[in-house]
Amino acid sequence: MRIELDGIVGLGELEDAALAFGRSAPAQLVADAIESMVADLLDVVVGPFGLPLATEDQSEALFACTRCASRRGFRRRGFRPKLRKVTTVCGQVAFRSQQLECLTCGRRFAPAAELLGLTPHQRRTDQLSEMAASLAVEVAYAKASRLLAELAGPQVSARSIRRDVIAMAPDRVGPEVCEVPVLLLDGTGERAGQTKGGVALNLAIGLVARTRQGQRVKVEARLLGATLGEGWSVMGDLLAEVRPGLILVDGEEELSALAAERFPDVPVQRCLWHLSRGVYRAARYTDKSSHDLATDFGAQLETLLTNAYRSHDLNAARTAYDDLIDDAEACGARAAAAHLRGATDEVFTFLTHPAAGRLLFGDKGRPEVGTGVLERVMREMNRRTDVGVRWSIPGVRAILMVKLQRKYHHGPWAPTPAPHHPPTARFSLAP
Ligand SMILES: [Zn+2]
Repeated sequence: MRIELDGIVGLGELEDAALAFGRSAPAQLVADAIESMVADLLDVVVGPFGLPLATEDQSEALFACTRCASRRGFRRRGFRPKLRKVTTVCGQVAFRSQQLECLTCGRRFAPAAELLGLTPHQRRTDQLSEMAASLAVEVAYAKASRLLAELAGPQVSARSIRRDVIAMAPDRVGPEVCEVPVLLLDGTGERAGQTKGGVALNLAIGLVARTRQGQRVKVEARLLGATLGEGWSVMGDLLAEVRPGLILVDGEEELSALAAERFPDVPVQRCLWHLSRGVYRAARYTDKSSHDLATDFGAQLETLLTNAYRSHDLNAARTAYDDLIDDAEACGARAAAAHLRGATDEVFTFLTHPAAGRLLFGDKGRPEVGTGVLERVMREMNRRTDVGVRWSIPGVRAILMVKLQRKYHHGPWAPTPAPHHPPTARFSLAP
């Protein structure tokens, strides 16, 4: 390393100089390492420079002729006139590429790309594409491009990041675990495509553990399924191998139907938060009840659920529930009554199947069964897509599938087992 100073300089100048060095040195290091590695390999395979081995004396190479796939019998043919460039997480790597001639078929080729696992026209490494995608699932493509250059150095255009995200995105995501205590199902609309209502993002989340850390309760969630612009039956197929202990639904009829059809033996619990909100909305906006009356229905529902949870008295709970329906009807709140009646079979599952999905039940004195985890995921997804533009369906599907994969460690973000061997490449400053 060389240090050049024009007299006494400030810390700011040193920071700038060190950063500039830090931005360019790693890529140079990688390029030098590649050149020296390939040179050593070719010495072994075709013999040292100026002392070529006869074909019969050559050993089998780690690479093959790009035309006839021969692994033996090569001659050095100097270097490719142009540097091979590939943008990596540590900047643009540009290296000289040794060229060989195949003595079997006469083809000239450069073996470095194949040795490095690069495809013929690959301009970015997968690691860089994944790093750029990690930013793009949080912020707009143009901003991701800017942040990547500012914070990490590599220059990748917004258009290239978008192309990579679309290339790496699966059409849908399926489960990586099958045994889940609680299965949550819900959907949300995304502003994409031509239809006014947009397109549906459907999610299935499994809750696998619940831990308490001081005052906070942490729920461990796994992504079991994600589809965009496809019906719930596609989700049903994705979840074919999943065995849930309890299914939580928000009241959408299609979801309850799916649960009944695909998981006939699994108890279904209605999300109590959605139920309470649904009753308020039906009373307030459909039945045109006063705010006080609509709030009162909600409060009564809350009370009877808390009592049911504390007393475990199913008959009393059902009677109180039927009374609330009658009460709503008597007050002219027909839609609220219908909403409650529609949930009858799913509201007290926590009493009829107390062991199912046990870990969802809290200790705040009231049943804590809700699809809150899913609501938060939906909001997170919507934050990325509600950017004031109308997305194309493939565009919104790609960004959401990659965002979900990354959030839940699927696909390229799946945890890799810790290597058993020490790293095979190490760089350090010479003493
Ligand atoms: Zn050949």
